[in-house]
Amino acid sequence: DDAALLRRRDAALADVQEHYWSAPPRIERGWGVHLVESRGRVLLDMVNNVTAIGHAHPAVTAAVARQLGLLNTNSRFHYRAITDLATTLAGLLPDPLDRVLLVNSGSEAVDLAIRVAHAATGRTGIVAVGEAYHGWTLASDAVSTSIADNPNAIGTRPDWVHVVDAPNAYRGRHRDAEARRYGPEAAAAIRALPSPPAAFLAEPFFGNAGGVPLPDGYLREVYSAVRERGGLAIADEVQVGLGRLGRWFWGFEQQGVVPDVVTVAKSLGNGFPVGAVITTADVARRFGSEGSFFSSTGGSPVSSVAASTVLRVLREEGLQERARVVGDRLRTALEGLAARHGIIGAVHGAGLYLGVELVRDRATRTPATVEAAAICDRLLTRGVVVQPTGDHKNVLKIKPPLVLPEDAADFFVAQLDEVLATGW
Ligand code: PMP
Repeated sequence: DDAALLRRRDAALADVQEHYWSAPPRIERGWGVHLVESRGRVLLDMVNNVTAIGHAHPAVTAAVARQLGLLNTNSRFHYRAITDLATTLAGLLPDPLDRVLLVNSGSEAVDLAIRVAHAATGRTGIVAVGEAYHGWTLASDAVSTSIADNPNAIGTRPDWVHVVDAPNAYRGRHRDAEARRYGPEAAAAIRALPSPPAAFLAEPFFGNAGGVPLPDGYLREVYSAVRERGGLAIADEVQVGLGRLGRWFWGFEQQGVVPDVVTVAKSLGNGFPVGAVITTADVARRFGSEGSFFSSTGGSPVSSVAASTVLRVLREEGLQERARVVGDRLRTALEGLAARHGIIGAVHGAGLYLGVELVRDRATRTPATVEAAAICDRLLTRGVVVQPTGDHKNVLKIKPPLVLPEDAADFFVAQLDEVLATGW
């Protein structure tokens, strides 16, 4: 039965491979925004941003199955799928970002972006921000500063990583209007580095902190400082890119900047592992002068058709627009809840990347960590899957598949309202 299977899981997997909830439901299948439990109950999935075009999208299933039955090989061979994907991806980015490297995950994309910056500049220094998560591989882990998600087992940070303050306008050192100071401070820190850095790397919209937008002008100031010193600007779009923010296809558009290197993954394959680094021809050439780059499965025909299908469906089904419309509706409703429930300190985010920050006290903004976990447990009993995030695990991160229907968004808000009203 399910409990016995869970015991076997916990005995076979390393303890660090934790699962949501102490008694998680066993999931057997998914479609759209829904997950189906082994005992038949249908859950509303407000957490899965990887399956952005909806769980088990038939177009991806068909494209992957067809390609897997036809040909799968590596990028040293000449085949159509990788060219189609790279052309489409480059077309989605502003000039001069038009050279694509393909990998298998977000961590790999970030790792490779760092490697590209090192090789292109002949330097090692990377400037990262606090409260960030960028992956689990050695280099992506080294720039992951979040105390909650950093899987760095050794607990040391290599000396090539320089950390500037998390530009978190809600609970950082500078709050609200004062948050405008983060940009000039980070720029000054970059100008003061004893040796010039290879790059500045951050999410262009603060996903890991729960969707807190960066202060206006932040990336403009920081990118200028790093470029003045001959370094590159890397935007990690793994979490917030590809239309989820609704108004913007890429997070960097919200800041009015164009980076030199962009990382993409997660929703790019709708669950099929694929990641990408997109950079300029000049940076790509400087990287290439170091030798060649090869990944056995990165950009394979199968992963390429998975990603190309996702990009086509995003466009054909108008999912960026849906993220805007449904996201605005959800945000307005959540702000309505905030007016009635004191535990909601703020509603962050844009489109279908929202954060409901739970606090014990609005004045001190003390994180309501235990409460957030209990509220997620209560929501599960009502058939809603949502999880807390951020350094204090007190932000309910709302990042469902972009196909979320209006009535499902309303259902989620009604359930959260009742849980907050009746106690947890
Ligand atoms: N960058 C960001 C911003 C992320 O949120 C994540 C994953 N949460 C990663 C990189 C790493 O991606 P992956 O888990 O696919 O390795």
